[in-house]
Amino acid sequence: MPIVATTPPAPEHRQRTEQACVDAIAALQRRVLEAVALGGPLVEVMDSLCRQVETLAPGVLCTVIEIDANGCLQPVAGPSMPAAYSAALVGVPIGPSAGSCGTAAWRRKPVEVQDIANDPLWRDHKELALQFGLAACWSNPIFIKGEDRVGMTFALYYREVRAVEPFHRSLAEACVQLCQVALTHEYSRRQIERLAYFDGVTGLPNRTLFNDWARQALQAAEVVNGAAPETGAITLLLLDLDRFKTINDSLGHAVGDQVLAGLAKRVAGVLKPGDLLARLGGDEFVVLLPGRDKPEALLLAAAVHAVLVDPMQVGSNDLRLSVSIGLSSFPADAADVSSLLKSADMAMYEAKRNGRNCTRAFAQAMNEDLDSKLRIEVALRRAIAASVLTLHYQPKLHLGDGHLVGVEALLRWNDPLLGPMPPDVFIPVAEECGLILALDAWVLGAACRQLGDWQRRGLAVPSMAVNVSPLRFKQDDVAGQVAGLLAQHELAPHSLTLEVTERLMLEDDDHARDQMTRLDALGVRLSLDDFGTGYSSLSYLKRLPVAELKLDKSFVRDLETDADDRALAAAVLAIGRALSLAVVAEGVETEGQRLALQQAGCEVAQGYLFSRPLAARAFEDWLLLRPPSPPTP
Ligand code: C2E
Ligand code: CA
Ligand code: CA
Repeated sequence: MPIVATTPPAPEHRQRTEQACVDAIAALQRRVLEAVALGGPLVEVMDSLCRQVETLAPGVLCTVIEIDANGCLQPVAGPSMPAAYSAALVGVPIGPSAGSCGTAAWRRKPVEVQDIANDPLWRDHKELALQFGLAACWSNPIFIKGEDRVGMTFALYYREVRAVEPFHRSLAEACVQLCQVALTHEYSRRQIERLAYFDGVTGLPNRTLFNDWARQALQAAEVVNGAAPETGAITLLLLDLDRFKTINDSLGHAVGDQVLAGLAKRVAGVLKPGDLLARLGGDEFVVLLPGRDKPEALLLAAAVHAVLVDPMQVGSNDLRLSVSIGLSSFPADAADVSSLLKSADMAMYEAKRNGRNCTRAFAQAMNEDLDSKLRIEVALRRAIAASVLTLHYQPKLHLGDGHLVGVEALLRWNDPLLGPMPPDVFIPVAEECGLILALDAWVLGAACRQLGDWQRRGLAVPSMAVNVSPLRFKQDDVAGQVAGLLAQHELAPHSLTLEVTERLMLEDDDHARDQMTRLDALGVRLSLDDFGTGYSSLSYLKRLPVAELKLDKSFVRDLETDADDRALAAAVLAIGRALSLAVVAEGVETEGQRLALQQAGCEVAQGYLFSRPLAARAFEDWLLLRPPSPPTP
């Protein structure tokens, strides 16, 4: 048992009236709470708390120590403690006999040691304490509100062997509460900072933090560039996971998140100190490489591809991952962070176009491609305003008796300056720049007006199919527009079919699903375009109110020669039969294809064999001049 000197309480405190103590503590509380409320940094608030305690209790040395996530001591404040003592505590693990503070955090209870020199709890640390003249220490754990964890300790040291006096106890009790308030405040601040600057799935810095970093790195490089250009290079790699959507759609978002976290870990593993990895969002990651030139960055990109070769085990799945990488350099390709990202983005798309799982460096020609997109966008806006867009109509025929099932409206743009522009070129541009919403709304209106006009004039056109961009389903009120058009042109709802490409999954999007349900309720048919080229699963088909599948023309093209394509076409037809969906083959150009389709059980088809898409007048002529089809049995 240590011998405890029965030191009487210091005389200046003995005289204190109880009321004076209460007042002193209340004043301390007010000042500290004010400092917390004003958002002062934890270190400053705790430092001021300790100083005030030491003024109220002369002879006492006060410390606040944070317990980090690894259970190690990290001194926060101890204004009267020798700096060397505090420094020696950094990183000391808490434990069953780790001095007063380390033990208090371990036991989750206050620990009072009246004689450091002889107490077993201080066995491993007493030399340090005694060297600085510390003889007794009473430490209190501070719990983090809402978490079952000790986040800090608050301790009073004495320079003589002694027990804690009653006033010091009351003071410490108040301080423990204040520390808890300050710590809880600090934790929410850190949490908010984490949410604002870090990505929850991978733990990596997010776009905001990345932009900050990158701006600073570029500024620093500019300074260096002034002096020695060769050392000021910065390269950037933009990584985009290949076919991530398929993983997400088929295996679910939980698996998708694990894949992203796993990818982040593997990529981080090949980086060097100073390289900055961040997640920009979705499946896009970025690595900023200050002071590394293009050849070095290409080597790193190769290392990233290599580290993804081994399959990733996620749950019961062995997933093969790959990334497409775009590289850009500062200052060669761009002068600021956003242009640097944009250049890397263009290069990354080039990598995707080149078959994915590869790296491409930015080249000026990519900018020219962007220029041409901009030219198309400007011209398209002009074309819409000047009403130079038209619709052509391609018949869909019944393969059995040749009767007209309906027509598909296809947009045509013959620009006075740029010449005829194929939809395959300008539709993607319109989707990128947002013009597609207005464009498709116009097409829908014009097609319905045309159908109403034909039906009123007694032309036997049973139905009209209109292509609608998936973006419209996600962002616009197609159903509302359709309801208005059906009424305006007195059309039967089932005489209108909306074709939407299968490439963009719509089921995840609440708005798109709602639109489809409303269209289905109206009686309008939905058709999945380019079927077979996307990712549709059978359950997807069952969940969406789809009435028709359009067998993509890429499968029809080689139907006569390619056994795989024949099998695919047969499979699509079987799916159609199983789910009671009509199947329409598109792009039928030869008699051989027509026969093969018919033999496989396909009932409806369209293609150059029957007719190219025709302007309205030309289509009317085609309709009137074609031999009458035999009456349907
Ligand atoms: P799609 O919906 O698959 O349209 C069929 C495309 O195949 C049309 O090309 C048509 O002209 C072409 N085609 C028809 N028969 C044959 C054939 O026998 N052989 C070959 N090789 N091709 C044939 P187009 O008109 O160039 O349209 C291309 C794509 O642009 C369309 O593919 C559609 O996805 C999109 N598109 C066209 N009009 C619109 C529109 O108003 N809105 C939207 N969002 N997209 C449209
Ligand atoms: Ca179509
Ligand atoms: Ca198609």
